[in-house]
Amino acid sequence: MDITDGALYQNSVKILEDAGKIINCDPNILNRLKKPKRALIVSVPVRMDDGSVKVYTGYRVQHSMTLGPGKGGIRYHMGVDLSEVAGLAMLMTFKNSLLNLPLGGAKGGITVDPTVLSRAELQRMTRRYTSEISNIIGPDKDIPAPDVGTNPQTMAWLMDTYSQEVGFAVPGVVTGKPIEVGGSLGREGATGMGVVFCMEEACKKLNYRFDDTLTIAVQGFGNVGSHAALYSHQRGARVIAVSDVDGGIYNKNGLDIPKLIAHFKAKKTLDGFENAEKITNEELLCLDVKALIPAALDGAINAKLAEKIKTKLIIEGANGPCTAEAGALLVSRGVKIIPDILANGGGVIVSYFEWVQGVSSYFWGEDEVNAKLHTAITSAFHKVWNFSETHKISMRLAAMSCSIQRLEKAMLLRGLYPQ
Ligand code: GLU
Repeated sequence: MDITDGALYQNSVKILEDAGKIINCDPNILNRLKKPKRALIVSVPVRMDDGSVKVYTGYRVQHSMTLGPGKGGIRYHMGVDLSEVAGLAMLMTFKNSLLNLPLGGAKGGITVDPTVLSRAELQRMTRRYTSEISNIIGPDKDIPAPDVGTNPQTMAWLMDTYSQEVGFAVPGVVTGKPIEVGGSLGREGATGMGVVFCMEEACKKLNYRFDDTLTIAVQGFGNVGSHAALYSHQRGARVIAVSDVDGGIYNKNGLDIPKLIAHFKAKKTLDGFENAEKITNEELLCLDVKALIPAALDGAINAKLAEKIKTKLIIEGANGPCTAEAGALLVSRGVKIIPDILANGGGVIVSYFEWVQGVSSYFWGEDEVNAKLHTAITSAFHKVWNFSETHKISMRLAAMSCSIQRLEKAMLLRGLYPQ
């Protein structure tokens, strides 16, 4: 597969071109942004528990390092391929630029279903993958983090492997680590919290009350979806439906999210939760709710589904959940979409805080982390909202335009090497 073949990559290039027109971007800069700086494909041989050896394929793509070291998560999922990782790396460049972080964009992943591996197999796979990409990562080069299918434990193994190779502890090589090995308070829930902060600002703009009248459906109950549901619930909104890969549950009077999280942890399924009906993922996405949070995978909302969507507010917890066609259709019907590079930016903002705290070996309290996250994400929200109102364009196009404006200035100042 060629790097540019995938739908996510092509969607990202298309929106880049559209935003380039809005800000009248230098065409040489646009051309450079359409391709990643560097892409590494590695074989990851792993000894399985039964003694056999399986060989997985892993990737790390560094899309841009103009604004600082590469930054972006590592995904373990069967849908991972070179083009998807490159598209996600590109989105990280745009996200980090929009959020005013001193970071470039990168992404990594392994084509694997992590749910069928034992803990020992996962550890061996993570360590070998880290070793294979260790030449191009590092606290000043490229800093991975969790994404779909990975978690703080994965990051601890990555940090340990890298540290063993260089001979001393290097906590700054990765973010999203457990607190005990240099993680930041508030990092685990940060993406979900950022989603909720953006939803609060959007509700103010749309004159929606943030209380029991705010009905919410959340697609995906991983790290992003479960925290977004929890913080919405804690702030008084009514989460009436959530789902995971196997389908969803619904109660029009609202789900007790803290209880549901405990149920999900114990049973590993949403099924069987008290006072809730079963619904499909498609039914969930089409519910007549005040706000919809797609927090599963890219491409979850396609054009066919978009026609049936009833909500007027979508906050993108996942990266790329609406296809380009679906997004255009929804916007033409007056739906406000708070785009991924803004809405799910809370994760990488607190990753940046983790990195800063690690470098200075001085750690902040959780309230301080959350307050700083609030300032960072709400100021980005208002920048994008105002740009979108001034230019009468969608929030996605506005977010991309603000992002490319910063990148263009930095790239022109740094110039092209050699001349
Ligand atoms: N994987 C997350 C994202 O897509 C977090 C990346 C990071 O913290 O570096 O934004």
